[in-house]
Amino acid sequence: MSSRVRVVILNSAVGPFDYRVPHGMAVEPGAIVIAPLGPRQLLGVAWEEERMPSPGEVGDNRLRNLLGVMDAPPIRAPLRRLIEWTANYYLAPPAAVARMALPSSSALEGARTVTEYRPTGEVPARLTPQRAQALERLADRQGIIRELALAASVSDAVIRGLVKAGAIEAVEVALDSPFPVPDPAHAEPQLSPDQRAAANALVTAVDAHRFEPFLLDGVTGSGKTEVYFEAIAAAIRAGRQSLVLLPEIALTEPFLKRFADRFGCAPVAWHSDLRQSQRRRAWRAIASGEALVTVGARSALFLPYANLGLIVVDEAHETSFKQEEGVHYHARDVAVMRGLFEEAPVVLASATPAIETRQQVALGRYTELKLPGRYGAAELPEIEAIDLIAEPPERGRWIAPRLVKAIDATLERGEQALLFLNRRGYAPLTLCRSCGHRFQCPNCTAWMVEHRLIQRLACHHCGHVEKVPDTCPECGNEDSLVACGPGVERIADEVAALWPEAKRAVVTSDTIWSPATAAEFVHRMEAGNIDIVIGTQLVTKGYHFPNLTLVGVIDADLGLDGGDLRAAERTFQQISQVAGRAGRATKKGHVFIQTHRPDAQVMQALVQGDADAFYAAETEARRFADAPPFGRYAAIVVSSEDKAAAQDSARVIKHAAPEVDGMAVYGPAPAPLAMLRGRHRFRLLVHARRSFDVQDAIRDWLGSVEWPAKVRVTVDVDPYNFL
Ligand code: ADP
Ligand code: ZN
Repeated sequence: MSSRVRVVILNSAVGPFDYRVPHGMAVEPGAIVIAPLGPRQLLGVAWEEERMPSPGEVGDNRLRNLLGVMDAPPIRAPLRRLIEWTANYYLAPPAAVARMALPSSSALEGARTVTEYRPTGEVPARLTPQRAQALERLADRQGIIRELALAASVSDAVIRGLVKAGAIEAVEVALDSPFPVPDPAHAEPQLSPDQRAAANALVTAVDAHRFEPFLLDGVTGSGKTEVYFEAIAAAIRAGRQSLVLLPEIALTEPFLKRFADRFGCAPVAWHSDLRQSQRRRAWRAIASGEALVTVGARSALFLPYANLGLIVVDEAHETSFKQEEGVHYHARDVAVMRGLFEEAPVVLASATPAIETRQQVALGRYTELKLPGRYGAAELPEIEAIDLIAEPPERGRWIAPRLVKAIDATLERGEQALLFLNRRGYAPLTLCRSCGHRFQCPNCTAWMVEHRLIQRLACHHCGHVEKVPDTCPECGNEDSLVACGPGVERIADEVAALWPEAKRAVVTSDTIWSPATAAEFVHRMEAGNIDIVIGTQLVTKGYHFPNLTLVGVIDADLGLDGGDLRAAERTFQQISQVAGRAGRATKKGHVFIQTHRPDAQVMQALVQGDADAFYAAETEARRFADAPPFGRYAAIVVSSEDKAAAQDSARVIKHAAPEVDGMAVYGPAPAPLAMLRGRHRFRLLVHARRSFDVQDAIRDWLGSVEWPAKVRVTVDVDPYNFL
């Protein structure tokens, strides 16, 4: 009797398939196995047959043998259930979801050490430009040859040459050195009565090892972090693991520091900037249960925790928790499902919770914990609107006189100011004054954004860059190109002209792309080496700078255009968050919002600090439109390099749409981003009743239609991006 087992093959678009388990090999569900597929050997996960339908049934006699079982803990049942749920809900292949649990194949290998390389400081006798470039970029880097080559943008051979020349040396790194253990008693805070009450509720749920979703709703600076730290302390005492999800990798570093102040050592960090050896070490510690606290971006959600006792989603309203490529999932929602399967409490922390989350509270499904005031003597900042029509900035400038005055006063007091504009680069549009030519991306329906720092025009959608030409490519006129509108770099120029003595910092994903660069920024802020920060949404969240007392929002209307269902809500959240950076300690904060629509409801709500009225009106509007959280949407995007093929397929798909009660299909229409990365895009929008099983309907529907190989169809369930 041979036994057979179903296997989800990771690096493959096909499967799951059945295999024969050879004599003497033990394969339990969740085991990570090596399976043959054609001539290849691929990783897979053994699964319960009844839970994972296979595309084709194969007789026992035609099965191929499994090749081996990896020396790593099997994927546990709660995570297998989560993978199934995610695949089903977001209409993704189970293999694509399972891959997120096993992102490091080296983690599965038995080795105990790895050879990494780092610069020695020696300069080789023969210094080619490539070698010079490598040594400059690798100053304090360490990693395997491939990682160093990538970081330095040179070939592996250049790095190997430098090793031979003695400029780079090999170091032996132990892979599985243990992580320090956080100490819950290291520096316990004195909680305020509100904080204590909230913390107690969380601790009770952690101790009971039961699923319970919480909304920790506290104004900015109310001490939400201190409160959920108590829940983490309880989990550590119980020997169970905690996971903290942050919306942005740039926030990791400040978090690590704060955590170390409270618990005596840093938690395990998981993010895209890890070296392969760090990734492996973290993965193994997570899978063995040794990593008691993990902090990471959304990708940390699918890791194989051995005994998860608590999940925290910090800044839970952030849309960056929504993944927009590969598996289109929302980490906030999947986190709640993981808590359900793991029987662990889930804490969604936010000063500006999403309407979806508030609705769950209203329905009694989530427990709300409120922190109504800032901690200690800190008060919420005062918010004023500046009407850009009544009080415009000077010609060619973007900062209105009243805000200029306020910055003057702030600098005089020796305090710091933050100017917020959610637009990278210098100017969002460049045109020719003579002929009107506008610079557009060749691959996307988007204008090229000027970046003066690197003297390039860049497309923010596909990354295409061009030199800024001296003459107009259309009419050939010289010096006729003008930059239209501001980006942060342009505001920084204006700041330099107005306050030449002030120390400036521009904070965007161009300047802060890793925990290390974020740490450097925090350090400069804390040391007082920055007077004025000019930043995008990257500076709106998480940071705590006691001497930052003024916030200016350059263009509060920016997010309101575009007809996005959540535009007003997002504007409210973003401006509340950035306003929340002001006056977080003993000094009072002030916020100025520059707008063309001071009477708009969202601006009024911000100025009056009346979140409840704003949310009540927004929620009613959603209910009226049957929009989420009352009804649901799914987007189907049909794209191809061949426009006619994309359009035809979109029509064919629309034609096959089921006519059922409870679901309507709109479109196809060209997507607002009609072309993206060289692909023409058409959108269908599915609108369904909450109770309707939209996934099932779409699965049957798309399963019944065929389209050419050059056409790609992606489904986005609960879309956040309507471009
Ligand atoms: P939030 O996350 O709600 O914006 P934080 O947790 O960042 O607020 O708290 C704001 C500031 O107040 C931080 O510097 C934090 O250390 C401090 N703080 C909050 N609660 C306490 C407490 N109970 N004891 C000491 N400091 C506290
Ligand atoms: Zn582009």
